Amino acid sequence: MAGRHSRREFMGLTAVGAAGILARPRFAAGRTLATTPVPESAQAASSADPDLVVFNAKVYTMDPAAPRAEAFAVSGGRFVAIGRTADIKGLAGKRTRTLDAKQMTIVPGFTDCHNHAGGTTLLYEVLVGNPFEVEFVTIASIVEKLRAKARQLPPGTWVEGYFHDDTKLKDKRPLTARDLDQVSTEHPVAVRHRGGHTSFYNSKALELAKVTKDTPNPPGGTFDRDANGELNGRVTDRARSVFNGVGQRPTFTPEQRAQRERDGVAHISKQFARYGLTSVHHEGGDLTAIQEVRARGDLHHRVSYESSGRVLDSMMASGIMSGFGDEWIKFGATSEHTVDGSFSERTMALSVPYPGIQPPYKGNVTEEQDELTAWVEKVHRAGIQVNCHANGDVAIDMYLTAFERAQKLAPRPDARPKITHCTLINDDLVRRMKALDAVPAMFTTYAYYNTDKFPFYGEELMKRSMAFRTLLDAGIRAAAGSDFSPGPFAPLMGIQGMVTRTGWDGTTWGANQRVTVDEAIRINTINGAYASKEETIKGSITAGKLADFVVLADDPHTVARDKIKDITIARTVVGGETVHQA
Ligand SMILES: [Zn+2]
Repeated sequence: MAGRHSRREFMGLTAVGAAGILARPRFAAGRTLATTPVPESAQAASSADPDLVVFNAKVYTMDPAAPRAEAFAVSGGRFVAIGRTADIKGLAGKRTRTLDAKQMTIVPGFTDCHNHAGGTTLLYEVLVGNPFEVEFVTIASIVEKLRAKARQLPPGTWVEGYFHDDTKLKDKRPLTARDLDQVSTEHPVAVRHRGGHTSFYNSKALELAKVTKDTPNPPGGTFDRDANGELNGRVTDRARSVFNGVGQRPTFTPEQRAQRERDGVAHISKQFARYGLTSVHHEGGDLTAIQEVRARGDLHHRVSYESSGRVLDSMMASGIMSGFGDEWIKFGATSEHTVDGSFSERTMALSVPYPGIQPPYKGNVTEEQDELTAWVEKVHRAGIQVNCHANGDVAIDMYLTAFERAQKLAPRPDARPKITHCTLINDDLVRRMKALDAVPAMFTTYAYYNTDKFPFYGEELMKRSMAFRTLLDAGIRAAAGSDFSPGPFAPLMGIQGMVTRTGWDGTTWGANQRVTVDEAIRINTINGAYASKEETIKGSITAGKLADFVVLADDPHTVARDKIKDITIARTVVGGETVHQA
C-alpha cells in the first residue's frame, strides 16, 4: 500500500480510520524506523504526521549503534526517527511542529540519581546561600535576611536560614552565635548548613534548649566552643535534637501543608527543567503532592521515587516492587540507607585516619554490620532495589558484604544494588562491585563546587575519590548523584568537574579520575537510566525511547573546558514537550 500512495495520501487514509494502523503501538513504529534508513518506508510505518521534527542539530545520541545525528522526529512523546536533516525534515506534515536547531548541540535529557528534592525549602524559607551556584556571601547579608524574617514573626518563634556553606563566606571566618544575636535576642535563630549535618544557633536558641558552656556533648554530636571554652553556636549532628522541642514553629492546616508540598514539587520541577534535568531520583518526598502536580500538568521531569519508612514498609507489605508505576512516576530503589557519615562535612568512614587530625579519626560508621545485613536481605527478598549511602571504603565494604550474602541466599537476576555516593574506592571494592553489577550514584558537582573541602582529605585519597575513570574502565556504569541540597544539581557543572577535576578556586584534585566529555554526558544520561533499570525506555536518543532531550547553545565537546558549566540550556524537552526555554 505504502508504495502506491504518496505520503500525504497515506496520512489521509490513516486519519479517516485505518484503525488497525492507528492502534499499532508507536513504539513498534519507532523500531521499524530505526532500522530503516530509507525515508519512504519510514513514512509508511508512521500512523500520523510526527508531532515534532528537529533538524540542523549536532545530536550526540549516547546510543553506541548510531552516536551522531543531525535530526530526529517525535511522535506520541517518543523518538520515532533519527538521522540526517535531509532524510528527517521531509517527515514533517501539516500538523508537525518543526525546530531548526541552527547547529546547536542536542543530548539526551540529564538524569540525577540522588536528589533530596526540597522544593518547599526553596520556595518558602530564607535562603542564606546560593542553592545552585558557587557564590560567596557575607555574614552581614545572612543577618540582614534573617532580620527581615524576624520582623514578620512573633517573639519566641524560630527564625531559620537555609543553604549556608561554611566555606563560601567572604568574611573568611565562621558564623557565630554572636552574629545571630544581631538578628534577634527575642527569637530563637538557626542557620542550617546545606550539607545537612551542622547548624548554627543564636543565644536565645541555646538558652531555650538549656545548653550552656558546661553542657556535655551527647553521643554522636557536639556543642562547639571557642578557644575560651564559650559556646560558639555551631552544633553538629545528633546534638541538634535538643532544639526540636523548644520555641514556637509556624503551624499549618493539613490543607495548607498539602498546598505547600504541591507548590514545592512544582517549583523544584521548574528548576530541574531550567538546568536540563528530565529525570530525577527523589529521596522520598510527598508522593501525593508529586501525583497531584503531575495531574495538574506541572510536573516537568520524570520521577524515580525512592522510598523509606512507612512507604517502604507498605511496599513490602503489599508486594509493590521496584519498577511499579509509569514513565512519569515510578518506584525505584529504596532511598539511601545510611551506613556512614558525610564527605563534605568530613565524617565518612575511612580505613585510614583522616590526614592531620589528632587524636586519629577514621569517621563514623552509623550502623552495625548485623543490622545492615538484615535490612539488605529483607529489602532484596521483597524485590525492591537496594540502595545504601556508603561514602568511605569501610562503608562500601560493609554494604557489599551484606549484598553478596543476600544475593547468595536469594538470588535475583539483574538486581543492580545501588550505592549512593560510593566516594572512596579501592581495587577490591571495584572488583566486587563489577561482580554484582552495582550501580554507583556519585557526587558530580563536588569536583567543581567543593574543592575547598578536598584539602581535608589530601591528594592521595582524592585520587581514589569520585573515581569515575576507574569505575568506567572496570565496566561499571557509574551514574550521577548531586545529593542536592548538599551539592548543586546542575548537570553541566557536574560534567565540567568530571572532565577537569578542577574547582571554582582553580585547584585540581585527583586528575587521574578525569573522564572525556562524551563519557561525562553518558554518566549523566544513559548510565542514570541504567541505575533505575529504565535504559530500554530512556537515556539515549534512540527510536522508540521517550523523547527527553536538551538543546545546548554550545557544544561541551568544543568549548573551553572551564566554560562547560556556563553553556546556556536553550531548551529542555520531556516527552516531546518543551518544559524550559531560555
Ligand atoms: Zn543524600
